[in-house]
Amino acid sequence: MRTISILGATGSVGASTLDLIRRNRDEWRIVALTANCNVTQLAALAREFGAEIAVVGDETCLAELRMALAGTGIEAAAGAKALCEAAARPVDLTVAAIVGCAGLAPTMAAIEQGGTIALANKEALVSAGDVMTAAVRANGATLLPVDSEHNAIFQCLQANDIADVRWITLTASGGPFRTWSAERIAAATPAQAVAHPNWDMGAKISVDSATMMNKGLEFIEAYHLFPVGLDALRIVVHPQSVVHSMVEYRDGSTLAQLGPPDMRVPVASCLAWPKRMETPCQALDLAAIGELSFFAPDENLFPATRLARDAAHAGGAAPAVLNAANEVAVAAFLAGKIGFTKIAVIVEQALNRDIGVAPASLEEVLAVDRLARLRANEVLESC
Ligand code: NDP
Repeated sequence: MRTISILGATGSVGASTLDLIRRNRDEWRIVALTANCNVTQLAALAREFGAEIAVVGDETCLAELRMALAGTGIEAAAGAKALCEAAARPVDLTVAAIVGCAGLAPTMAAIEQGGTIALANKEALVSAGDVMTAAVRANGATLLPVDSEHNAIFQCLQANDIADVRWITLTASGGPFRTWSAERIAAATPAQAVAHPNWDMGAKISVDSATMMNKGLEFIEAYHLFPVGLDALRIVVHPQSVVHSMVEYRDGSTLAQLGPPDMRVPVASCLAWPKRMETPCQALDLAAIGELSFFAPDENLFPATRLARDAAHAGGAAPAVLNAANEVAVAAFLAGKIGFTKIAVIVEQALNRDIGVAPASLEEVLAVDRLARLRANEVLESC
């Protein structure tokens, strides 16, 4: 039996992970499950799986969590420190699936234990970049990419030499507004933005897919996970979401990973790594799909990939600023405070403000994140 902790257990990636564990109950023992404030679901999952500890990020939810777990023997805790303490409990695998930079400190706490981390929380790696990869090396930890694109690349790199890579191509669905006019996009509502054509995901990443910032974040994520350099990374729009990404080698061979648009496929790849496991996912029926198409991204309509690429080239604090400003802008859009196209405007203006030097520690990354949120909120007010 292997032990596992799931940070962000009540979310979409958390649900995909727990679905696979539910089908293989005798293989896994759950140590920690965490959420932010969804006490009802967290307590139900902790009871169902007999977790050791359940933690909510929001301290005001602790009393309710304690009540929901009364008599079970499952520990209940709350707050940022408790999330990190739970993440630091020794386990065979940690699934890092909190959304946003809120997941950074708990993910770093797991990395510091030197274990294996299945990383879905791309915002943490985008913000902390070199700090996180240095911690992985220093603690002898292993990062397994959950993001379907990076999981695809990881699979395509197996048994090959990274020095032989010519290109890594990230595929992007193009999101729900791929074929819309600029006028329609400007009037897009939160409900339209979260209705992704292929993937069923949390609200924040769905909006990121609609703006294409998700691909921008993934570009920076790929830079940190796969040391091929920024100039060997490119993005192609592939509306069917069947080819999850590709690696081209110097001999002209391109390897791709294909699969249904179901997060249980990359999650299973991490759970079973370096082996394979059964999943209930639909088999890929290429004859029924019929056609796979590929287009260059339109950075006039969707400027987020350009902003992310520029932030990656600028380095230093820029990726953390990009991420923080995007989180602020997406939350404002989902709350109905700004229009869809203002998201990229806010990110660009926040990036133009001076935030300081490259963060060299977790504390410095979190300080940049806080300052960038202040700046983004100032820009937001002026909108
Ligand atoms: P969801 O919004 O569905 O779930 C987010 C999870 O994080 C929930 O458990 C939520 O708890 C918890 N959470 C939110 N805010 C905080 C906080 N401040 N402190 C502690 N916990 C918090 O997100 P997804 O599952 O869609 O995405 C999770 C991560 O995985 C993101 O980084 C995303 O980019 C990445 N990812 C997601 C994919 C997908 O298919 N969904 C695909 C690839 C990557 P609560 O329920 O209580 O709010």
